[in-house]
Amino acid sequence: MINKNAGLYLHIPFCMRKCSYCDFLSFPAGEDNREQYLKQLMKEIKERSLLLEDRCVDTVFLGGGTPSLFDGIQIGRLMETVTKYFKIEKHAEITMEMNPGTVDEGKLMAYKTSGINRISFGVQSMQEKELALLGRIHKVEEFRKNYQLARRLEFENINLDLMLALPNQTLQDVKYNLREAVALKPEHLSCYGLIIEEGTPFFQEYQQQELRRQAGEERVGDVLPGEELEREMYQWTCEFLHKEGYEQYEISNYSLKGYECRHNMKYWERGEYLGLGLGASSFLDNRRFSNVTDMKEYLSIDIGRMQEELVAEEEVIDRQAAMEEFMFLGLRKTAGISKKEFKDNFGAEYKQIYQSVHERMVHLGLLREEGDRICLTRQGIDVSNYVMSAFLL
Ligand code: SF4
Repeated sequence: MINKNAGLYLHIPFCMRKCSYCDFLSFPAGEDNREQYLKQLMKEIKERSLLLEDRCVDTVFLGGGTPSLFDGIQIGRLMETVTKYFKIEKHAEITMEMNPGTVDEGKLMAYKTSGINRISFGVQSMQEKELALLGRIHKVEEFRKNYQLARRLEFENINLDLMLALPNQTLQDVKYNLREAVALKPEHLSCYGLIIEEGTPFFQEYQQQELRRQAGEERVGDVLPGEELEREMYQWTCEFLHKEGYEQYEISNYSLKGYECRHNMKYWERGEYLGLGLGASSFLDNRRFSNVTDMKEYLSIDIGRMQEELVAEEEVIDRQAAMEEFMFLGLRKTAGISKKEFKDNFGAEYKQIYQSVHERMVHLGLLREEGDRICLTRQGIDVSNYVMSAFLL
């Protein structure tokens, strides 16, 4: 049997406080609760590592929430448990998300010693006014200091998360943020447009403002950039980062050559991964499943005896669903999908299945065929949700 690889995701759902736009599964919690969660997560690692059978783990991702709320000793214990129960590949990519307002030299040193070799800093903006508006806990200077510290400690693979299309943001603001971020020479940048998600303080605020605006009221407060300005921001970002040597390899992700995030590539290429912790999702043996999202429930499960109680949702991915995923996940990558891989996976020609939607999208200038590859055009990226939904069978 060929040894397969898989990714491992560990969810740390704690944050100092909730940012105004955030709908992730995260919340503030005291020291005791965090420690209790860590113990349960370590138990889950021990009991559920068997799910990977003889697969080798080649990417580990500690995401959240704010994993850097855990101190160096706690992350050390967590990583020790990971290496004890999983076969970790020698050159595995081991990423940890960090909030710049929660790290210091001691923590960074300990994280490095425990095996973390890639940092993802949630920077979001290089301007205080924007950080305050987003409800972030960190200051720009704090981020700069911790970034330099990480470099001094020889972290050689750093991602910066930035946000575009914030309320009141101008193209000049975006240019400033990107220039300041690139001046630090990170290996990777993720630049996502703000989405106003239901249930967040932003949703309440901006939905009400929109209603008041529609009712004809003037001067109702902060204004979200319109579609055209948002597109301009996005295009400027792509062009600027390209000039600076960053290859756009996915709709919102850019990296220096060889520094694409291997863990995220797994998601877009339908690679297998095991997700552990509150609400974490997995994809194994053509099955997508995810854990319970209620903390009390998660902590109360006797994982040693009743680990199946952890699973809240489960879906077997049949051939048709797999084809759809192959298309809408694959088209997120700028390299798009390979017709040959499609045939190898599904035993049918790409065009046999998608002829009419393919022709329609090419005709509209949204899709491009180049030899074996099918990818979104620049225009296609602007309306990517529309194109991808056309591939649902
Ligand atoms: S730090 Fe990240 S996960 Fe936590 S509340 Fe803010 S956006 Fe959400």
